[in-house]
Amino acid sequence: MTARILIVDDILPNVKLLEAKLKAEYYDVVTALNGVEALKKVVEESPDVVLLDVMMPGMDGFEVCRQIKANPQIAHIPVVMVTALTDTEDRVRGLENGADDFLSKPVNDVALMARVRSLVRLKMTIDEWRARETTASQLAVTEDTSSVMEQPVDKANVLVLEDMDFESNRIRDTLAKDESTVTLVQSGVDAISEINQKDFDLIIVSLNLTREDGLRFCAHLRSNEKSRAVPIIMLAEEGDMPRVAHGLEIGAHDYLMRPIDKNELLTRCRSQIRHKRFQDKLRTNYEMSLSLALTDPLTGVYNRRYLEAHLHKTLISARENRKPLGFLYMDIDFFKKVNDTYGHPVGDEILKGFAKRIKDGLRSFDLVARLGGEEFVAVLPDTTEDVAMIIAERLRKSVADTPFPCEVPEGALAITSSFGALVVSGTEVGNVSVAELIKSADDQLYEAKHGGRNCVYFKGKGKLPQT
Ligand code: GH3
Ligand code: MG
Ligand code: MG
Repeated sequence: MTARILIVDDILPNVKLLEAKLKAEYYDVVTALNGVEALKKVVEESPDVVLLDVMMPGMDGFEVCRQIKANPQIAHIPVVMVTALTDTEDRVRGLENGADDFLSKPVNDVALMARVRSLVRLKMTIDEWRARETTASQLAVTEDTSSVMEQPVDKANVLVLEDMDFESNRIRDTLAKDESTVTLVQSGVDAISEINQKDFDLIIVSLNLTREDGLRFCAHLRSNEKSRAVPIIMLAEEGDMPRVAHGLEIGAHDYLMRPIDKNELLTRCRSQIRHKRFQDKLRTNYEMSLSLALTDPLTGVYNRRYLEAHLHKTLISARENRKPLGFLYMDIDFFKKVNDTYGHPVGDEILKGFAKRIKDGLRSFDLVARLGGEEFVAVLPDTTEDVAMIIAERLRKSVADTPFPCEVPEGALAITSSFGALVVSGTEVGNVSVAELIKSADDQLYEAKHGGRNCVYFKGKGKLPQT
């Protein structure tokens, strides 16, 4: 995993030292000697992680960090504060200014590499979602410029695996400040059963359990589908450093050294919860914009854009497998009259009901799409002519036989629809394009409209007898 790291420090030998260490691990290194230069490089070089010295003349590290986190374009870039002071108040102040982590000087090699690796990983996930989100919003919708720092940190669901009561009680009391719900467990088995029942925002794991190995449990959390995306904070003792480094390597996000400082605990938890919520939000936005871009908001079935892409793929796979493909083109009869007589909202209700009736009459892997107006299509993979004829006629009948409940004085409206249908055989399927397929079904539909409506015209068969 290679990444670009920006080192900011006013003392050149410090910069050179860190640069040498990171370059030895094949990181791409960029440097800055003061706050102003740092802000400029963050924008110009898009680093994956910033290592930021706190004590600098002019603009200090806190201010640089605050400005990075206040700019939505760069706020997602993780910042590690590097401080000569071991004073926790200073660390807490850094985290409160939006720092994602900190290191104390002299920098411990294990801690440096572990922290950098863990934050680069976080950055990669965020980048991935941001990229997908951009694609989705280019397709249609939502533009979200909110940043990590804007995510709420309160009312989180936190799981704590710790078998020392005084420690777990201390954690629970501390997190109560943020009105978080803290679930305390003493064994991995109990933790897993909680994870299967609830969604957690954060999991805290002791590496000093008497009966089991917390590190092994961390590895399990990463491989379990349900907990894979939940941040982990490890609790460790002096001398656990190699195990902490190992934990960060296998995917834990952070650690706290005992004796646990309450302020540090609180800010570290907040920072992880914030990251988790930000990632969740990116994912939801992406999924939402995707569904908005590909489905019809009124009826919930796929739209033309999706149909065309899907049909293209379906034709390729039908060709490879030499499987016949059924295709139906449906149009509601005299739909304009529904709108003219009862109004557009009633027309909309009919459209929804029609789409639902068609979907309910098909298999889950058949695809229904609205092409526009009152025109729908269905794609029926692996369907022979005999079967497609039965299906088309059954769908027509399901529409015509039962009036559609809607807001009209009568309580329901009788609706009919016309169908143009065809099946492309497994041998022909290689010679037909998406446009040709739609056109030829549309030709059949035209026949159905002129052949009296409320009927199915099937390519090569003519008008199907009504059942
Ligand atoms: P035919 O039997 O020949 O298909 O006649 P028709 O009236 O169904 O066909 P036409 O294409 O003349 O009219 C379609 C109507 O569908 C016209 C338009 O106002 C209406 N329409 C299109 N989209 C919507 C929609 O989203 N909601 C509603 N309520 N009506 C729509
Ligand atoms: Mg119509
Ligand atoms: Mg029409």
